[in-house]
Amino acid sequence: MTDIGRGSRGKPAALVAAARDGDPRALARLVSLVENGSPQLREVMKLIAPLTGRARVIGLTGAPGVGKSTITGALVRAYRMQGLRVGVLAVDPTSPFTGGALLGDRVRMQDHATDSGVFIRSMASRGHLGGLSWAAPQALRILDAAGFDVIMIETVGVGQAEVAIASAADSTLVIVAPGMGDSIQAAKAGILEIADIFVVNKSDRPGAQEAIRDLRTMLAMVRHGPGEWKPPIVPATATAGEGIDDLVGRLNAHGAWLAESGELDRRRLARAREEVSAIAVAALRERLGALPGESQLEELAGHVASGELDPYTAADKLIGG
Ligand code: GDP
Repeated sequence: MTDIGRGSRGKPAALVAAARDGDPRALARLVSLVENGSPQLREVMKLIAPLTGRARVIGLTGAPGVGKSTITGALVRAYRMQGLRVGVLAVDPTSPFTGGALLGDRVRMQDHATDSGVFIRSMASRGHLGGLSWAAPQALRILDAAGFDVIMIETVGVGQAEVAIASAADSTLVIVAPGMGDSIQAAKAGILEIADIFVVNKSDRPGAQEAIRDLRTMLAMVRHGPGEWKPPIVPATATAGEGIDDLVGRLNAHGAWLAESGELDRRRLARAREEVSAIAVAALRERLGALPGESQLEELAGHVASGELDPYTAADKLIGG
């Protein structure tokens, strides 16, 4: 096998072509470029822009241990039975150093390891500017351009960063499990607003009915206008594959609603807006932070510190306003 990382085959155009031909190593390299904030990304993004916009993006979020990976695995299986190609990105915004095999290592995903219709990859931010707020959407673009029909993006936890990433999807699943007080925590993290579908996993465990009831009570307080989507609550026992067909059905219904209501276009526009501003802000920060000590920022900061200049005027000077 040729080493895709070397020579002309490592060039963006060759990598994109190989990824589109289904070469998983080329795809992995492209995602690594995103992870590392590589300068080659500019060219990659330019090349793939016309190839994007086709994939269906599903976000999954929920506290650790609720069963996100098990559900992801079950959904992968269900979509593969329909002959769809599935990409999975597992993102951990809270720990930049765990990059590698957060998900790929997990035993339950191994039945997909030799299936070329499935690509599974975990991502870490490696601490670069802007973090995963722009990296995750770019990795999505790459999988989209490579021809995956469905892309799942799984985030760990229910903090703000996770919520932001998961809500960049077309459809967002919020997963809770009984006995963990998850639904309450989820509500606190603002997750009620981002959920398109709630999954109460581990329905084989005591407390599942209570979890469903808690969610219903909370949802009853949210007003839904006519034509608006009301998030359904889907009970599941992912380990036994129970509730997965129902979930796939709900996802299809949500997909249809997104298209009919115009919400799909709105969400994709919002996603692009976030992406552009995240890149612009990162670029500005980089520019401002360049050459500390000699930069304009340092000089202006000196003037502000000594009282010669007010901070607004200084900021205007800095950004050329
Ligand atoms: P994640 O951390 O949210 O990705 O959760 P995992 O998918 O890794 O699942 C955590 C643990 O819960 C694993 O041991 C699973 O086997 C188990 N689990 C997942 N789904 C179910 C379920 O429906 N019922 C029960 N009893 N256990 C489950």
